[in-house]
Amino acid sequence: MGIENELAEFLESSIKNGANKARDVEIVKFYYGLNESPWPTLEETANRFGVGSRERIRQLLNSKFRDNATKHSIPSLNDFVQILQSKAFWLFSDLEKEIYQAELIDRGRHLKGIFNLIDDVNLDCDFDFYTPELKPATRNSIETNKNLFLIRDSIVKDIRKLLKKAQGLPGRCGIANLNYLRDELGQYYSLIALLRDELGQYYSLIALLIESSPTSWVRVISDDYWYIFENRDNTIINYSEKVFGIIEYCNPTRLAETYRNALDGRSYKYPYPPAEIIEEYLRSSVYMVNTDLGLKFIGETTTLNKIEEDLISFFNYGQSASFPELDKYLDNKNYGRPHILKTTNFSPLVYVDKTKGRRHHVYSLIGNRGAVQGDDLDIDAYESYLRRLRKLLESGTDETREQIARREQHILQEWLFKDKTHENCAICGLEFSVNTLVAAHKKLRTDCNDAERLDPYIVMPVCLMGCDYLYENMYVYISGAEIKRGLSFPNASAESSVIEKLVGRTVDSKWLLGNQSYFRSPNKALRRMNR
Ligand SMILES: [Zn+2]
Repeated sequence: MGIENELAEFLESSIKNGANKARDVEIVKFYYGLNESPWPTLEETANRFGVGSRERIRQLLNSKFRDNATKHSIPSLNDFVQILQSKAFWLFSDLEKEIYQAELIDRGRHLKGIFNLIDDVNLDCDFDFYTPELKPATRNSIETNKNLFLIRDSIVKDIRKLLKKAQGLPGRCGIANLNYLRDELGQYYSLIALLRDELGQYYSLIALLIESSPTSWVRVISDDYWYIFENRDNTIINYSEKVFGIIEYCNPTRLAETYRNALDGRSYKYPYPPAEIIEEYLRSSVYMVNTDLGLKFIGETTTLNKIEEDLISFFNYGQSASFPELDKYLDNKNYGRPHILKTTNFSPLVYVDKTKGRRHHVYSLIGNRGAVQGDDLDIDAYESYLRRLRKLLESGTDETREQIARREQHILQEWLFKDKTHENCAICGLEFSVNTLVAAHKKLRTDCNDAERLDPYIVMPVCLMGCDYLYENMYVYISGAEIKRGLSFPNASAESSVIEKLVGRTVDSKWLLGNQSYFRSPNKALRRMNR
């Protein structure tokens, strides 16, 4: 009959009748999360009911519940623990789904409080909440990040080691393939002699943790899982810091091919990513802006070393050169042969055209230096908003995350509504006063990585006259350019008729700009796979 009812019944029979009985029942229920609060604390409970301090609540919980309850007082809790322990780890939202399905608690109730309840009746559960970085989840992270994990205490230490390994791989590869971790796992696991199937399970947890991190970029193509962390030191990002110190724009394909070539000059035990993957990453990197002229880098640039500077000044005299020409020039400046070979053949600054065969490579600078203007007079509105949003990353410490979210929301609203009194709702198409519209995320903000979150195209104007509710809860969704019927309302004819009017409508093309994968659909897994 469900945890909430059993708890209420237990309290009803165990608390003595008196003036405060009804209130005390509510206090206990509130503290165990059977209300709208996602992470109830003693303070919050005290404030909510206006009963003194946290200490008062603690006493009250002890005398009205903890002192009388045993692990058999609320039988459904055992079912809850059984479901929880059927796996070694859970994506929080997956566990929620199972628990709702088993009707142990009502849909919409948060599970965190139930874990307090489990502790307080002395049931063992041995699971804790973690962020995708495997930091213990806090009240704040539960509110700002839907991608939380529940992981069995006994495996957290191992998982942490593996994640650290996985996080380190891209630094060397540029963009790592998670399959490389299997090799690394192999060594690690033969040491601690774990079973093979557990290895597979751990691997899928690591994959989930990586794609849930706001700083990751992930691309899965059949068996290949390519990923990079944008907040960590990385060869590809380091290359860009150099390249964009000397040029302003670069064609993405040429940039990717040059980086791929530069990677080949480094030795590493695993294969480097193909140029197409590098290009895909560069196009969606949080550090890059896509413009008509090519990609533009918006991170900090670094200075070149001596031989690179000489190389650049050589190219200033001509468009391209053969190897003997370059060799002669650098040899005259007294650079040694290995140094010359590395800087010419495997430099992120030099595009090597290999189409004429091995002996006839043609070398040229990666991009046109003449394009460097240093002013941003003609950047369009999209780019200027994108830059403002991405700038927020520079102040991105944990302490200020909430403030950043607020500023981000402010900029996105300006992007949609600045200097306007009216705008059309993207869903119903009707024109409303801007006060009746919100900047709605096409994809849930909590499901976005940094690059998506800080892209103006992530939002569209949606009216508060119903569309916001219908879209947010996926009763309607956008596929191609069309509004489709999403999840169904059970026995709700009024709602259905509202939805009926929207279905089949074509969305204005300006709200379809940006990545198509921003649009959620009930059929797609909501996780950020194959972005
Ligand atoms: Zn509307």
